[in-house]
Order: sequence, then C-alpha cells, then structure tokens
Amino acid sequence: MEFRAPGWPFTISGAERGENPPGKFSAIPRGGYCKLPESPYSRYSRQIRFAPFGAEAQERLAAATAVVVGCGALGTVQAALLARAGVGTIRLIDRDYVEESNLQRQLLYTEADAARRHLIEANSGIRVESHIADLNPEDAADLLAGAGVILDGTDNFETRMLINDYAVREGVPWIYGAAVGSYGIAMPVLPNDSACLRCVYPEPPSGAQPTCETAGVLGPVTSMIGSLQAMEALKILGGRAGAVRRKIFRADLWNGPLRETAMPARDPDCPACGRREFAYLGGRRRAPVSLCGRNAVQIHDRSRPLNLPELAERLRVVGTVRVNEFALRFDDGEYDVTVFADGRAIVKGTTDVGVARGVYSRYVGN
Ligand SMILES: [Zn+2]
Repeated sequence: MEFRAPGWPFTISGAERGENPPGKFSAIPRGGYCKLPESPYSRYSRQIRFAPFGAEAQERLAAATAVVVGCGALGTVQAALLARAGVGTIRLIDRDYVEESNLQRQLLYTEADAARRHLIEANSGIRVESHIADLNPEDAADLLAGAGVILDGTDNFETRMLINDYAVREGVPWIYGAAVGSYGIAMPVLPNDSACLRCVYPEPPSGAQPTCETAGVLGPVTSMIGSLQAMEALKILGGRAGAVRRKIFRADLWNGPLRETAMPARDPDCPACGRREFAYLGGRRRAPVSLCGRNAVQIHDRSRPLNLPELAERLRVVGTVRVNEFALRFDDGEYDVTVFADGRAIVKGTTDVGVARGVYSRYVGN
C-alpha cells in the first residue's frame, strides 16, 4: 500500500509508517526489536498532523536557519526543541565558559561543542554550527547572516539591543526572552510589523539589575520561556508568521501571576525601527573594554551610576565583598573584581575580554 501525504514529497510505504503487513516479521523473536528505516514523515508525524502546521510548514523548517544567541539556560532549551522539530540549520553563538552552577538548569550544555553534539544526537538529519564568540558590532552581520529567525538566549541587554538593531535593519524576526529568579518574560519582534525592543525599552535598564548569579533562577522558568520562544520561532520558520502571538508574556512561576499583555504599537519615534538609527550595530553604544595590566581587563561601561552598598548586599551570596564609598571589591574564588561607583570595573583573573564582560554581566548587571 502506498500513499502520499498531502503536500509532502516523499512516498511513504506502510512499513515506514510503522504498519506491520500481515504475515511479515514473523521471524522476529518475541521481545525482539525491528528498527524500521526512519522516514522524515514518521519522525515528524505528530507535528505534521497538527493541522495548522502540517507538511508544508515541515518542509519549510528543513530549509530554514535559526540562530540561537547565548547557549545558557534559555538557549539550550530553544536549540533542543528546534533540533527535534527538524529545523534544517541551527547556529549556536556563545561567549561563555560553562560553570558547574549552571548545570542544574541547563538541559544539554556541558561545553560549547557538547551542546552541538547533543543536538546532533537528538537529530542527525540537521546541521548544527557552533561559534564561540562574543556577539559584537564588528561581527554581528557575519554571525547572524542567513538567519530566518534569531532567538535571544543572552544574559544582557546590550547584546539584545545589538540583535534588535540587526534584526530591524535586515527585517529578520527575533524572539526576546529573559529569566531571573522565578520570573520570566518573552516577546516576539516582527520588523516592519510589530513593535521592536526599543519601542518597548528605549534605553537599557539603568543601575545594577538582578542577575541569575545574584538572584538565582529556577529551571522550570527558563524551560517555559525557552519553550515559548521556540514555539514562536517554529511558526515563523514554518511560514506561519501570521500565527505569532503579538503579546508580551510575563510570568512569576513562584508567586504568580502568568499573564499576557498586548504589545504596544510601533513608536514612530523609535530610534531603531522609526528613525532607523542603529547605534548599537554602529558600535557607538558598545561598552569599551580594554586589557588592563597583567591578567586583568578593564570595563568602562556606559554611564551606570551604581549603589555600591546595595550591590554589596547582593554579592555577599557569591563571595567575599569589601566596599567603601568609592569602590566595591569582591572575589568569587576565581575572579577578583573591583567595581567603581560610576559603573567601571576591573576584572582580575583573565585576559579574555569576553570572559570579563561575562563576569560583569553576571555580577553587576546587564
Ligand atoms: Zn522600534
């Protein structure tokens, strides 16, 4: 018996669909295992059977590229779901080292290449690229080129603004997401259609922000936000952008509530999608960073007046902290970090600018 799935180019036999023809396989011993050749139809059959998606969207996925920026708690969830769904090419971009404390909430990330290997194990029919890189204005266009959608798995607002600049300029949809503590937020950005991130947040939040290192984060929160982002990405890559929910989703999984609010209208005066001034992509808003003496990196962040006593209180959970009115110094056992009241910092224990920026994001804010 042969049949053709509507819109699907593969001819599927009954055996491939898992139907045992009468009288066949009688030689297989009881309890034996007969692995049938896997067809694209059987692998994705449940997804294809979901009528609003269907075989045609599945075909589009196979030809599509998703870029996951940041391969931490959110990015690993997104990448795993997209790989299993059959997105043809997945590009992972991550600047960070893996730390033990991350494993509790990271589903597949033990190291950058391990993330890639795990995805290929989950689905050998797709292509997975991994780039160890700090997404910055100089190489953003190369790293994000060809993306059908960009997923935000980053831990800092500056990189999100850079993604937003690129996405708006090039007309590539992207999905914002963030999680800290028991709280998470997600929002799709459809350039030329919906509001962009700078319509909603014209400037990054000022002052020190809670981070996963200072406030912690719960695995179910990152799983939920990463899943929501992956769902909207699959709609876009499957050619179902009309089904993208134009909402801002916010949830506190510990205290509640879970709620969605309508996205605001596009701001005609938005620097990015209104005036098309891409300051982050132009590098004019990037925090300058420089090597500073031996085994240390200085970060001259944007003007970020900090409340040092308050920051000290938050950092006491991660290491030893000393503070006076001019500076705060703390040691997490690996890095010795001095933070000044104007937001500048010196990270000792590394000469890697990306690592130092990561340390700053984790402990001072994004
Ligand atoms: Zn905008």
